Amino acid sequence: MKVLVINCGSSSLKYQLIDMNNEEVLAKGLAERIGIDGSKIKHKPSGKEDVVIEKPMSNHKVALEIVINALVDENYGIIQSMDEISAVGHRVVHGGEKFSGSVVVNDDVMKALRECIDLAPLHNPPNIMGIEACQELMPNVPMIGVFDTAFHQTMPKSAYIYPLPYELYEKYGIRRYGFHGTSHKYVSNKAAEKLGKNIENLKIITCHLGNGASIAAVKNGESVDTSMGLTPLEGLAMGTRCGDIDPAIVTFVMEKENLDINGVNTLLNKKSGVLGVSGVSSDFRDIESAVKEGNDRAELALDVFANRVKKYIGAYAAIMGGVDAIVFTAGLGENSPEIREAVCEGFEYMGIEIDRTANKVRGKETIVSTEDSKVKVLVVPTNEELMIARDTKELV
Ligand code: ADP
Repeated sequence: MKVLVINCGSSSLKYQLIDMNNEEVLAKGLAERIGIDGSKIKHKPSGKEDVVIEKPMSNHKVALEIVINALVDENYGIIQSMDEISAVGHRVVHGGEKFSGSVVVNDDVMKALRECIDLAPLHNPPNIMGIEACQELMPNVPMIGVFDTAFHQTMPKSAYIYPLPYELYEKYGIRRYGFHGTSHKYVSNKAAEKLGKNIENLKIITCHLGNGASIAAVKNGESVDTSMGLTPLEGLAMGTRCGDIDPAIVTFVMEKENLDINGVNTLLNKKSGVLGVSGVSSDFRDIESAVKEGNDRAELALDVFANRVKKYIGAYAAIMGGVDAIVFTAGLGENSPEIREAVCEGFEYMGIEIDRTANKVRGKETIVSTEDSKVKVLVVPTNEELMIARDTKELV
């Protein structure tokens, strides 16, 4: 059985075709600049040369048509016909309170997704466009929706209700939802497997540190708290997002800098985080290089970032009544020994001891704590596409 996994952004479409008999990725790729000049697809078929296909793509449907043609192309294709695709799994960012697991998409689901647009105005519309494009091009193939928010639907009310007038929750659904759920679920389960323990008896803190970053408290296999909130802006400092700040700063800055709603949204989402503090870049590789060249603000940005992750680890150990394992994943979590060390440093009193030699690892599933460390620290590469494909297979 072959499953196509689709992840649509406003001007991009990422895809993977996975053979679920052996979970092998047959092809993957990225269509960029959809609806903008210079659209192209980078297509990577397994065992064949990568190709770049440059063609105008006015919308996601056109992009998807080109992707399907690439998958069946006689030179760089990987299947004979699109009939071989048994199902399509779609990443959907916001499922609100309606979805606590993946679902087969039908008219009711589409209606519910549209109702969630208010909660994720930047993310849900392209996700919906991706589903509609697939439905038009593959009318008889089942579509599955896999939600970033679903895994966190197990949080207790005490974790997801904001101390605001309760009516705002009732009227608008203002509450913590949390994101990166597919990744937090995947890496917590992988960590339990690696430790040879049943996840139902473990307290795990998962740190998804990429361009967007979030952290989750996973108790007995269920998310009980997470750092992102109503939107992905809350929590950790990120590449360009501020994470937690005093909410009074918003109106203060609007007044001082004469910013309107769009202006302040851009400031908090695009100009803050490690980019804002360092003035160098949102990419941690650039920041780490700048630190090596003696750039103080780059160093400060890393300190601010690590400090925030540390605070959340302490907080989540507190709410779970302890912690058995800490898991690092995503671009930075998987690839930066420096950040992992900075985060774990000073936690020895809690029984967290990183093994500096084992920690010199990039992108490989490994235990990086010492033999004696009471709390195990692991690097687990995330694989959201595989999780989406597994859910898709299970549901069809
Ligand atoms: P997203 O999916 O949120 O865009 P990723 O999980 O791909 O993000 O992570 C991207 C980030 O990971 C980059 O911005 C970069 O800062 C960081 N990163 C990737 N590789 C490395 C590395 N070798 N060293 C340090 N940071 C890295």
